[in-house]
Amino acid sequence: MIYADNAATTKMSARAIQAMLPYMETVWGNPSSLYAAGQRAAEALQSARERMAACFGATAAEIYFTSGGSEADNQAILSAAKNGERKGKKHIISTAFEHHAVLHTLKKLEKAGFEIELLDVHENGRILPSQVADAIREDTCLVTIMYANNEIGSVQPIPEIGEICRAKGVPFHTDAVQAAGHLPIDVVAQHIDMLSLSAHKFHGPKGIGMLYARKGIVLTNVIEGGAQERGKRGGTENVPAIMGMATALEDACRHMEENTEKVTRLRNRLIEGLSKIPHSILNGDPEKRLPGNVNFCFEGIEGESLLLLLDDKGICASSGSACTSGSLDPSHVLLAIGRPHEIAHGSLRLSLCEDNTEEEVEYILKSVPEVVEYLRSISPLWKDKVCGKREFLLPE
Ligand SMILES: *Cc1c(COP(=O)(O)O)cnc(C)c1O
Repeated sequence: MIYADNAATTKMSARAIQAMLPYMETVWGNPSSLYAAGQRAAEALQSARERMAACFGATAAEIYFTSGGSEADNQAILSAAKNGERKGKKHIISTAFEHHAVLHTLKKLEKAGFEIELLDVHENGRILPSQVADAIREDTCLVTIMYANNEIGSVQPIPEIGEICRAKGVPFHTDAVQAAGHLPIDVVAQHIDMLSLSAHKFHGPKGIGMLYARKGIVLTNVIEGGAQERGKRGGTENVPAIMGMATALEDACRHMEENTEKVTRLRNRLIEGLSKIPHSILNGDPEKRLPGNVNFCFEGIEGESLLLLLDDKGICASSGSACTSGSLDPSHVLLAIGRPHEIAHGSLRLSLCEDNTEEEVEYILKSVPEVVEYLRSISPLWKDKVCGKREFLLPE
């Protein structure tokens, strides 16, 4: 099997698994317990907090463990909204192509009377810092913009956005779930007030993540309960998962340069090869994109059929279209960058990691054009285009 869906989740590293085992087999006490067996778990937690904070220039006291990226996004946004509401500020700035953990939380706030302004992300999937500067108002209580997009891989000008928000005194949150462990992050230099990450996107375990909140940012609980996480997140800490996450993040940051070099080379080879398919288009910025992200639209095919046929060939990939969930709506990300519905339906995302090989890339480059050609050959719509009854939307 060729796994090319690392933006959906990654395989756990052997080192992350090893880091977890002692906290299931030996040091399994409750970190809140006062006896020594509990305190050993508490010390491990504290060390994980310090090791993770060091990966992006934060301090241990600014780290809050959560159940994953989604919970961290929810908590960051709901906290900023609550803080804003107290001061009569109910305007929030974001983009139309955020992850649903962000968009659905914003929807909920809109129903509660907040004004949500979604900035245009342009065809290359990037916003301009000046858009943020122009949108900020007296009553803006939060700017939340993802670090890198999970579907099309475009990376935002985070330091510039952070600088603008800091100068205007508006809290800035970034969903860095796709970026953490893959791109260098420094919350101080980049003026980031809150940041979400998730372990399973960098070879750590699922169901564990983290919210960074700069000292001085007041958090609101999403999970009420005990005094864990300085009272901001109830529930006994998932010590094994946290230990696995800390090791996975440290490893990812330590090997970032060499991994980026390798993955970027494989990615560029894929982009170059797939661009040769007639009537195709690359989605996302060609330069400012995640090292492992490849995303194309192919005219005249359904993403779902493409995925199933690639699965038959042993390739795990993804498509933005959401037909499986019962809706015929294509990806909100592809629509946000202006792809027409028909084109957006024919998308393919391949997301690589450092475990992928050149042989795998060559196999993908042989398989995708075959499958695209086959699907077109059985499509009545495509036949109409070929004989001139319908217009092609993408150039040859
Ligand atoms: C995966 C992902 C999330 C959700 O993280 P979970 O840990 O799965 O809840 C949020 N945002 C982005 C950009 C993601 O890619």
